[in-house]
Amino acid sequence: MMLTEEIHNFGSKTVVLDPDNTCPCTHVADEFICASFDDYAALKELCQKSDVVTYEFENVKSHFLIDLEAKYNIKQGIRPLFDSQDRLREKENAKKHGLKTARFFSCQSRADLDQAVKELGYPCIYKTRTLGYDGHGQVILYSDKDKDTVEPYLNVEGIVEEFIDFDLEVSVIMVRDGDKTIVFPIGKNIHKNGILDLSIVPTKLSRDLENRLKEASVRFMESADYRGILCIEYFVKNSDFYFNEMAPRPHNSGHYTIEGCTTNQYRELVKFLLGVSLEEPKLKSPTVMKNILGQDLWMVPKFEKPNALKTDQDLYVHMYSKKETRPLRKMGHVTMTNMTEEEYKEFYERKICVADK
Ligand code: AMP
Repeated sequence: MMLTEEIHNFGSKTVVLDPDNTCPCTHVADEFICASFDDYAALKELCQKSDVVTYEFENVKSHFLIDLEAKYNIKQGIRPLFDSQDRLREKENAKKHGLKTARFFSCQSRADLDQAVKELGYPCIYKTRTLGYDGHGQVILYSDKDKDTVEPYLNVEGIVEEFIDFDLEVSVIMVRDGDKTIVFPIGKNIHKNGILDLSIVPTKLSRDLENRLKEASVRFMESADYRGILCIEYFVKNSDFYFNEMAPRPHNSGHYTIEGCTTNQYRELVKFLLGVSLEEPKLKSPTVMKNILGQDLWMVPKFEKPNALKTDQDLYVHMYSKKETRPLRKMGHVTMTNMTEEEYKEFYERKICVADK
């Protein structure tokens, strides 16, 4: 929805394909194709109707796009999508292009699990290789008895990964057009139950560490020869950082860029798609983004009428018009500018998150 709105700002029109005919994009797309992501005829129709095509979701089956990429302008190409769709492939690819990862082992049987645990020790994490997101398909193993929890997953391919006792998680979001790679200010991500809760920018990392994170990310993107947008999520521990996963699409941890930066992740992706030159983003002020999940909706009116902001602070509520509300479903987000992490805690815990619901 947000990408479509940005495309309209450039005077272009959009055709959107989504299996859900109540999805947020139906409110804004010029034309909507309601079809599953593996409906080849519908994907082809989308390509035929479009001058340029992109994807906003990792689970579009990349093998369907091989033939379409050869004939139509899928400008990011299928490679970053393909590489991001399988955790084993994704991590092997990250290592191949110079990024450090947590140690990991492929796991398809109880014997593989036993062997991986023997190598890694406890705690360690089992993850399904495909279709996992927001902590789904993951089990943290603390002792032998947790192996039984993994057992039901062993009919699908998985990995077992070293547990990184990280100091913080961060995102590096880049857009590359072949001439130039721009990098958004690095945000610190705080997750709750495996789902992003807050993005806080700037981080309190040293300038040296931030520079190394940015340089390694740009080198990775160039070495892999990806174009378009890419978000890489890292674990930071002391002065080291470990690639966790990547997404070749605008990312939730980049929503803060809409109001927090001089240009945002959607605008730069649209510029890439339209062949307009990219602009180096700058942070306008310390910014905090909070996700609104299904169970958080009661807070929204409070965010809409904040009386606890300082005069230079602004608050922007974005709701996604999703028809069905479910706990843990991302329903919207709030961005607060000129707000530090400490100020946010004071504001949120004392003025918003109080139990008069
Ligand atoms: P993922 O789906 O891989 O992003 O995992 C969801 C969340 O689980 C991450 O954002 C981390 O907070 C946590 N997590 C995943 N992998 C690890 C790991 N190897 N060590 C420690 N925490 C992890």
